[in-house]
Amino acid sequence: MNLKELFKKTKTRNTAGDENVKPEVPNGLFVKCEKCGSTISKEDLEDDLSVCPKCNFHMPISAKKRIEIITDKNSFLEWEFQIETKNVLDSSGYDEKLEMMRKKTDLYEAVISGSADIDDRKVAIVVMDSRFMMASMGYYVGEQITRTIEKATEERLPVVIFTASGGARMQEGIVSLMQMAKTSAALKRHHDKGLLYITVLTHPTTGGVTASFASLGDIILSEPGALIGFAGQRVIESTIKQKLPEGFQSAEFQLRNGFVDSIVERKELRDEIGKILGLHVRAKPNKIYSKIHRDKAVNKKIKQKNTPWEIVNLARDKNKPVATEYISKIFDDFIEFHGDRYFGDDSAIVGGIAKFKGKPVTVIGQAKGIDTATNVYRNFGMPSPHGYRKSLRLMKQAEKFGRPIICFVDTPGAYCGITAEEGGQGEAIARNLFEMSGLTVPILTIIIGEAGSGGALAMAVSNEVWMMENSMYAILSPEGYASILWKDGSRASEAAEEMRLTPKDLMELGIIDDVIKEPSNYKREKIKVVAKVMEKKLLGFLMDYESYSRDEIRKDRYERFSNM
Ligand SMILES: [Zn+2]
Repeated sequence: MNLKELFKKTKTRNTAGDENVKPEVPNGLFVKCEKCGSTISKEDLEDDLSVCPKCNFHMPISAKKRIEIITDKNSFLEWEFQIETKNVLDSSGYDEKLEMMRKKTDLYEAVISGSADIDDRKVAIVVMDSRFMMASMGYYVGEQITRTIEKATEERLPVVIFTASGGARMQEGIVSLMQMAKTSAALKRHHDKGLLYITVLTHPTTGGVTASFASLGDIILSEPGALIGFAGQRVIESTIKQKLPEGFQSAEFQLRNGFVDSIVERKELRDEIGKILGLHVRAKPNKIYSKIHRDKAVNKKIKQKNTPWEIVNLARDKNKPVATEYISKIFDDFIEFHGDRYFGDDSAIVGGIAKFKGKPVTVIGQAKGIDTATNVYRNFGMPSPHGYRKSLRLMKQAEKFGRPIICFVDTPGAYCGITAEEGGQGEAIARNLFEMSGLTVPILTIIIGEAGSGGALAMAVSNEVWMMENSMYAILSPEGYASILWKDGSRASEAAEEMRLTPKDLMELGIIDDVIKEPSNYKREKIKVVAKVMEKKLLGFLMDYESYSRDEIRKDRYERFSNM
């Protein structure tokens, strides 16, 4: 009988509800899922790239298999550096264990590396194989990875590392510990050359590997459900004398806590990495955009149809498009990246890389929701400190890779609460102002609704700031202004008149640089018209700044604010 048929039959039986009839499981043809305990035919598992069809557990796979499913056919070229495993401590039984592992896995050690193409783009690739002593990192593993990174730096190649490891290799003691520093140092040199490093964390990645090269990717992807952590769960449990909650140290836990950019299914990984590589190809200046020159003398005198208070209300209108809608309308291939790499991922700020007219840009938006549920999820567009830190992380990355930055601002203000203060809201905003002032790539901010206070400014230290016709930008809300100055929050409309928060006023004050007209009764259904206008203006902005040197871009921004 064909194996597949056998398995299909057992499935049919189970769905028929006859649970007492256990399928016969011939030894060696089936494997048991480590997570859910399901029995799966090896053939089916092979077809599913070793992902459990019942619980989606991404089982560890061999390095060779990984290379086969990730790289372009026949493109992998192994890099051998004649390294030998050293039993420096004369650890008893270590040599025998290595011997046994080599026989069992047909590998010399726990890592394979070399060059390969992914989606037609050449990379240096490192793959750890957890079947070999849990892919623990001793001298060989550390040295092989370091030399691969060094060779990649020399050849100006991106590095892609698939991690899986129990951590340091105990048998090699302190020498093993040093591998953490060595690999990290090699990555620093690679980073300083402006080269891309992608990490893919697979099950399990722990200990000294997590505390070194695994956590240092420009972009950190993970397979779903992978165990990722520093200390082992048993160690933690015995230290804190508590049982750990379900999902502790999972990839999803790491995403929530800000350490993983994105979780990607194994079958999607190759395409996703290909896409990311495509977004990091350095474009030659002045080659991409057609020569469209902006009318630099923008209309300083603009007509204002509505009263300031009407503008405030229109800026807050729930039916106006939000940042995520502009992003998907104006840009192509947007990939969202999560997390500040310190504390968490703030859903009030959405950021990532996208293409605009074929060229990579970094896009970051303060995101309101479109209904109550999404507004709650997005905290009504009020960012937390880790949101600002995420935006800064993405901006720094944009600078590393020479990408212009486009920010959408739409916030009543930075989130005000206990957690925000504990997280250092003030420091986070200040840091953005400080760092943004020095970035050497062009930054454009478009205020699409409300722009309140330092929470807005933290994403508006830009070369240019534009506003939608019915948007507002102010030190605080008119309600707050009235209540602080006149002890009467109900005089908000009067405050709006006085505060000079409309695009017309701000243009006259030289605070902003352009105003985008809105169709009458502007609702999200009409976004297409506005997006077209934005696109055209954005093209002009990018075109202009392409002719600036990095120093000129920074100076231009510095002068913009020094004149205020
Ligand atoms: Zn399972």
